Amino acid sequence: MSPASSTTTTKSVVTPKLDISKLDRRIYTPHDTPLEAMPQLSKALGNKVNLFIKRDDMLGLTGGGNKTRKLEFVLAEAIQEGADTIVTCGAVQSNHCRLTLSACNKEGLDCCLVLEERVEGSYHPNAGGNHYLFRLLGAKSITKVGLGEAPKAVEALAEELRKQGKKVYCVPGGASNELGATAYVGCAQEIQKQAAAQDIHVNTVVCASGSGGTHAGMSLGFSSDPNTNVIGISTRHPKDHQTEHIYGLAQKTYSFLLKKNGMDASSSSSSTATLPHDAVVVLDDYVGPGYSLPTAGMEEAVTMFARLEGILLDPVYTGKAAAGLIDLVRQGAFPEGSNVVFLHTGGAPSLYHYQPIMPSMEDAVLPPPSDAPANKRRSDSTSMEEKKTD
Ligand SMILES: *Cc1c(COP(=O)(O)O)cnc(C)c1O
Repeated sequence: MSPASSTTTTKSVVTPKLDISKLDRRIYTPHDTPLEAMPQLSKALGNKVNLFIKRDDMLGLTGGGNKTRKLEFVLAEAIQEGADTIVTCGAVQSNHCRLTLSACNKEGLDCCLVLEERVEGSYHPNAGGNHYLFRLLGAKSITKVGLGEAPKAVEALAEELRKQGKKVYCVPGGASNELGATAYVGCAQEIQKQAAAQDIHVNTVVCASGSGGTHAGMSLGFSSDPNTNVIGISTRHPKDHQTEHIYGLAQKTYSFLLKKNGMDASSSSSSTATLPHDAVVVLDDYVGPGYSLPTAGMEEAVTMFARLEGILLDPVYTGKAAAGLIDLVRQGAFPEGSNVVFLHTGGAPSLYHYQPIMPSMEDAVLPPPSDAPANKRRSDSTSMEEKKTD
């Protein structure tokens, strides 16, 4: 084989239009996160599909999670603009606020938080979990507001700080703008690269769909491969609302990346063809009574992941997304033999706040017993025991 032909057969997974390498970026995770098989969970669900997990709970900063990936791009812009103070908002147990604060500490920036009480009575100034970490990590201020009041409160606080001479940069909730979604285009490319190296073809990716940057970025990132679909499990909003939101954000992100790569969205005939509307799939069957409120499916999913794979999910996002994954496998929604990747977006620190609403260990749903050996022999007796067959 000539050198020329060998280079042409080395196919890159990154299409030039979705190249994110030209963007400013801070590095908070100096490595790819693992793409791992979940053999025990696959087996407990009948071995009809091969389940994998993308461990974005192992991203950098305090405790990891999807906001770390997004903040690499968002804070790069803030720093580039000369900001000294970051204002952002989230729910009372926001993972996004924890990680923004953590990144700000690393960058030497002040960070002010606005917390939106989405469930009445859910804010406690001495709460554990993420709220404890807001205080430990040293938020400059914490402002509690009611449902729907966060955007205005962020603007008002930013104005006040600017009057004091601060250079303020506001990070949107969940860091879900074009920059945040761009990070998840990068994650899709990382999964494609890892899957190719492990010789697996990913048929479906399942992720939580909240403020939307993750889902929008994944849908856009995988749009270059018509054989991989992405399913977003809504953790809050109804299907139609969320679908339009994700589609809009994905389109905006696409135009943004075209521009960054020196292409013009309006003159590119294929620009709208890249992400067909029906490539955005949202399921809202797993929200239950509302955002952050527990469901039986979530409790089962959190317990199964812990006991079968040793992986901690969170009750608000990944627990509900995994409840969707488990239900879809049981329903036979994936063809037999499919490779399905669950995107773990983090959030486990909130377990330590929600523990009182989680099932007691005696009541927890146990998966059916596996046929694994009941008792592992102690190493000092294995040589004798190994010869026995029973
Ligand atoms: C924020 C969050 C999500 C949702 O991601 P979005 O990009 O906001 O849709 C999922 N899981 C965890 C743990 C989160 O903190």
